[in-house]
Amino acid sequence: MPRILLLGGTTEATQLARALADAGADATFSYAGRTRVPGAQPLPTRVGGFGGVAGLVDYLRETSITHVIDATHPFAAQMSANAVAACGETGVALCALERAPWISAPGDAWTLVPDVAAAVAALPESPARVFLAIGRQNLAAFSDKPQHLYLLRLVDEPTAPLPLPDTEVLVSRGPFTLADDLALMREYRIDLVVAKNAGGESARAKLDAARALGLPVILIDRPGIPPRRVCRSVTEVLDWLAHPADSCAAKRGV
Ligand code: NAP
Repeated sequence: MPRILLLGGTTEATQLARALADAGADATFSYAGRTRVPGAQPLPTRVGGFGGVAGLVDYLRETSITHVIDATHPFAAQMSANAVAACGETGVALCALERAPWISAPGDAWTLVPDVAAAVAALPESPARVFLAIGRQNLAAFSDKPQHLYLLRLVDEPTAPLPLPDTEVLVSRGPFTLADDLALMREYRIDLVVAKNAGGESARAKLDAARALGLPVILIDRPGIPPRRVCRSVTEVLDWLAHPADSCAAKRGV
């Protein structure tokens, strides 16, 4: 029977944890520990970094893990690269549960940028009301454009002063609906949205709301991650666990 390490932190990881628990799988859920109260999981759960590639290699060996499923956020590039390296070194099977990126539809006014620095550069010079929907990390980069009002939606109340002079902070955990985000953007008279191309359903509403309101979006592209097997759904992951050789992910040739 496979012994699974599930790297979490996303809605999809939580869905997969439920499916693995229902199947009676031998699996451990891993959180980075970024949020103050991580969501409860139906699997044994550990919290905190492993200590880089070397720490993860030790963990995989000590716990006799046979399969790692990387269901971290598409922007958690360090953890994903570490998983590729550690699984390569130990011969542990690795598969990522990764959402497809969002693709623009008619009516979207997206500016696609490669990274956070480019998103800052793409902001206008004249003061604007910006929904900065990128989470807590990377906020400091936006201090180069202090003239804007930044609306931040964070999972936890900030514990340290924010690096931006003019902010409105909402503490709330997704998923968010189109109605939620339309109301939010109207209430705060938002002029433009900055977001990461996370993909998936639970964070998409802000883009649909921006389209409905005719607002521009600066969309940050995903960071590069070394090649690995990718599954697009919980079902594909379960298929891979049961039949690694002929699963959808293997057929994709990655
Ligand atoms: P990251 O930059 O790729 O990871 C930094 C370090 O955090 C990793 O090297 C690892 O530490 C530790 N880590 C990350 N995910 C872990 C996990 N699931 N279990 C144990 N350790 C983990 O990641 P990040 O961008 O800080 O994201 C941290 C967590 O938040 C991830 O679980 C991710 O799914 C979630 N998240 C991230 C974003 C985002 O936009 N980045 C958005 C939503 C949720 P060691 O090197 O010590 O092992």
